[in-house]
Amino acid sequence: MPEETKKTPEAAEKPTNCMKCNKRLSRKTWYYKNNGYYCSKGCWQQAVKAQAAKKEKKA
Ligand SMILES: [Zn+2]
Repeated sequence: MPEETKKTPEAAEKPTNCMKCNKRLSRKTWYYKNNGYYCSKGCWQQAVKAQAAKKEKKA
């Protein structure tokens, strides 16, 4: 029986771009936080602030 179907493609779910500035991410530099992928801590913090601002507007 071939076991090819059991293998899951690792590349499929890896981040390729920063969710904030859309900068290309490399394996060593991406910053993962709160289900988001960013190129740096700064980008993550900006994204968090943007999300917080949205929530405040809604509430
Ligand atoms: Zn970024």
